[in-house]
Amino acid sequence: MRRKIAICWFRQDLRLSDNPALLAAGEAERVLPLYILDTINPDRDLMGSASKVWLHHSLESLSQSLDGKLWIEKGDPSEVIKRLIDTYPIEAVYWGRCYEPWRIKRDEKIKAYLAKRNIEVKSFNNALLWEPWEIKKDDGSPYKVFTPFFRKGCLNYAPPREPLDPPKKLNIFESSLSKSIDNLKLLPSIRWDKSLMQHWIIGESHAQDRFSKFLAIGIGNYKEGRNYPSDHFVSRLSPHLHFGEVSPNQLWYGAKHAGENKNIDHFCSELGWREFSYSQLYNNPNLSTRNLQSKFDSFPWIKNETNLIAWKQGLTGVPMVDAGMRELWQTGYMHNRSRMIVGSFLVKNLLIDWREGERWFWDTLCDADLANNSAGWQWIAGCGADAAPYFRIFNSVTQGEKFDPDGNYVRTYIPELAKVPNKYLFCPWEAPKEILDAADVKLGETYPEPIVDLKISRERALSAFKSLS
Ligand code: FAD
Repeated sequence: MRRKIAICWFRQDLRLSDNPALLAAGEAERVLPLYILDTINPDRDLMGSASKVWLHHSLESLSQSLDGKLWIEKGDPSEVIKRLIDTYPIEAVYWGRCYEPWRIKRDEKIKAYLAKRNIEVKSFNNALLWEPWEIKKDDGSPYKVFTPFFRKGCLNYAPPREPLDPPKKLNIFESSLSKSIDNLKLLPSIRWDKSLMQHWIIGESHAQDRFSKFLAIGIGNYKEGRNYPSDHFVSRLSPHLHFGEVSPNQLWYGAKHAGENKNIDHFCSELGWREFSYSQLYNNPNLSTRNLQSKFDSFPWIKNETNLIAWKQGLTGVPMVDAGMRELWQTGYMHNRSRMIVGSFLVKNLLIDWREGERWFWDTLCDADLANNSAGWQWIAGCGADAAPYFRIFNSVTQGEKFDPDGNYVRTYIPELAKVPNKYLFCPWEAPKEILDAADVKLGETYPEPIVDLKISRERALSAFKSLS
């Protein structure tokens, strides 16, 4: 017998296609598509400022696809759901699973409550290729190294689910009681978001467009091209993926259907890194705050607010670092190569605790994701699973010479260095005075002197690391 009304509770799966929870709800006579901004449960800020802006637009887009009938709520989800089932003949509640520890706890409670009320409740995998509890070593423990996790664990497990079509028809239950998206107050009162949004078109159909463009022009040179921040060989799909406007299954199979070669394999293995991050978060709920390698607990981090602010503002005087930090500030995104360069500079050259970097990224990235961000920072700090060894300290000058050979990236984000010749673009402090004069650069005035000496700070980091064991 068909259920009268089923709630599809949208969370990090703001799309109609490849959405098993929505398909299940679509079987009922009527579907109540629900989004709740949880203001009660998160154990840290639910979202940073850039993510809130993204969410606002993503909800608008989803609601449009649902003929304006997305039901919006704010508050404690268990209270909201209780109120809805007390008021309407709701017989089922379905959702896509989330993996943040606080969400897992909250959802378990809601599940138990609904079951007690005889409401059918089911959760689905809407966000990952493999469930984190499925991929484990023969002895049942989680993998700590990426390659065996992916090759032995994931690829030997059942293949990911094939993407599903959107429901053919949805009979939506509507009411005038829904709050408006504006009521969630996700947009800032000083409208800095307008310039940020010039870089993005948000929503499911635009995520698909971006993916098609990536398949047409990016993936063909992905393996090598993904290292160059000013090139267009990466997908820039991370915020769309974080909010679930596109599913990893759609990307996995979309890429696989495009052919078979090293670029496609490499792209799929990056999706594998995302799975690895989620596995780490699932198995280490404190991933965003606690070093996975406990020997780092006594690391002699330095508190230096002036240097931290210079880093955040892209005013360290080290061009590759500043370009990355300004890309982040202006676009809400930073290329992966730059994330590694700016991260290494913060935790190694400045010896500032990786958690400071994690918090800043959390607030400013549109793709801020608890699993990927925490795992990325632990990786760069050397204290995570399968992390970059601590002694691998990115040299921002040689990184620039190698991965921004024409200087396009630095010149885009640091226009005050635009006229500096390539030879000195990544180390203007080494340029003779006449070259700086000709380029209209006055170090310390038009662009900062470097806040640390790269060589001395590298040595200092290495001896701090040696002091650990
Ligand atoms: P593509 O190269 O096109 O890759 C496609 C997808 O694969 C990405 O969208 C992403 O979901 C996944 N992916 C790619 N590289 C990685 C990786 N190294 N780890 C995990 N997943 C990956 N990614 C986030 O989504 N959110 C974050 O908050 C985040 N914080 C990071 C912090 C640090 C310090 C570092 C070093 C990395 C972080 N990453 C984060 C991972 C990575 O930088 C981004 O996923 C990637 O740059 C997104 O760009 P893209 O979509 O063009 O990637």
